[in-house]
Amino acid sequence: MNSIYWLRNDFRLEDHRALSAFAAESSSGLILWCASPSFLRAKRFRRSTVLSALDHYFKTLRGLGFQVVATLEPAKRMIPRLVREHSVDTIYSTDDPGFEEQKETKKIQEQLSGTAWRTFSDSNLFDWNGLPFEISNTPSTFSAFRKLVEASQLPWASVPVPNQVPKPLVPNLGQDSWIFDPQTEIVPSDLHPRVQLHEAHAREWLQTYISDRRLMDQYAETRNGLLEWDDSSKLSPALSVGSVSAAKIARAILEDEKQQGITKSSRAFYYEILWREYFRLVLVQKGASIFRSARYRDGSQEDFEKWCRAETSCDFVNAHMNEFLSTGWMSNRGRQNVASYLAKSLRVDWRLGAEFFEQHLIDYDCASNYGNWTYLAGVGNDPRDRVFSTQRQAELYDPDRAYRNRWTKKRNDSPPEL
Ligand SMILES: Cc1cc2nc3c(=O)[nH]c(=O)nc-3n(C[C@H](O)[C@H](O)[C@H](O)COP(=O)(O)OP(=O)(O)OC[C@H]3O[C@@H](n4cnc5c(N)ncnc54)[C@H](O)[C@@H]3O)c2cc1C
Repeated sequence: MNSIYWLRNDFRLEDHRALSAFAAESSSGLILWCASPSFLRAKRFRRSTVLSALDHYFKTLRGLGFQVVATLEPAKRMIPRLVREHSVDTIYSTDDPGFEEQKETKKIQEQLSGTAWRTFSDSNLFDWNGLPFEISNTPSTFSAFRKLVEASQLPWASVPVPNQVPKPLVPNLGQDSWIFDPQTEIVPSDLHPRVQLHEAHAREWLQTYISDRRLMDQYAETRNGLLEWDDSSKLSPALSVGSVSAAKIARAILEDEKQQGITKSSRAFYYEILWREYFRLVLVQKGASIFRSARYRDGSQEDFEKWCRAETSCDFVNAHMNEFLSTGWMSNRGRQNVASYLAKSLRVDWRLGAEFFEQHLIDYDCASNYGNWTYLAGVGNDPRDRVFSTQRQAELYDPDRAYRNRWTKKRNDSPPEL
């Protein structure tokens, strides 16, 4: 069987059902990564993060003997060409809930009606076939969703690292081919120094966070902290490139609860992994319609640009935007504040803010980003439709101004790419 594995963002060997099936079932095969439309819009922090993770992953795959290709060409051109030229009969892929990504997949499938597809959902936490509701009936609030799945659903079972490698699909290509040079695109200073991005590092960090240093034990108290790296797990960049799976994180939490007992912190941490899953379901349920509604659009372009440049009249918002512009990272508390401020206080169309986040975030994830933005803009799944008082939030979460003092200093880099 001649196969392509169209890799999107599951940059790991372990716990990777699509890769395992591709490796076991194909006589010859190629692992292909194509820049997605969203990646092509990404700016330096996100771009460097994804490419660094991919470069590392491809070196590992190549070391095991897999043939790999990465290209900036769109999948809708690359895949049909490879299928025609190399008599490919099966395409392996991982499903992605993103609207653009779903559209892209459908387009390719329509062009290749004679080719078999094996689609996996390795980025999800649960196997959705076993959910106690139809996706079209995903509950409209997170707490209703949580009550339905918390006791009844378990993360999918782990799978080992593949132990077979197909022959190369494309002769004379060598084992490895980058159709562009990732190293010219990766700016080392753009890589966040604390992020554990590669599979072995992410695995180690997960173990450190949950068991070795037992940082999870304080999660309920520290998660809203703005200053310390360990305040929250910082697993989201690894999750966004898929160097660790949500299922692996959830299994680790559940295992720890079995050994050490359930605590407020362990449950709070588990619920966050459920939030991620919830937004994935909501995105598939609602599709493109989530992008169609904006509550307010009368805020000015000037206000939007000031928000992007960390030059609003609120120092708490500016400090968060400064951290974001300097690192590609912002805490959940910060994201909630700056999003609410843009969409509700400045009354700017939330979609502009969400797109700005999409371009820069080092943990960009379509469902989490757009789901949270709609929630905060009052057009999503927030039953309370809250507005954050950024002044009150600053008093609560930055009473001694330590965070603002750290991030109010002028950035010495060029203005953000808008
Ligand atoms: C406006 C806005 C945009 C966001 N955009 C993204 C995004 O593009 N990518 C992204 O991964 N998260 C996004 N989030 C969710 C959240 O801010 C980050 O997941 C979290 O800050 C990551 O830090 P952590 O890994 O230390 O999280 P922890 O607090 O340690 O949580 C563990 C994991 O749970 C998940 N999680 C936590 N909070 C949320 C949440 N509110 N929604 C969905 N999943 C959650 C994440 O996968 C996270 O890594 C966004 C939130 C807001 C308010």
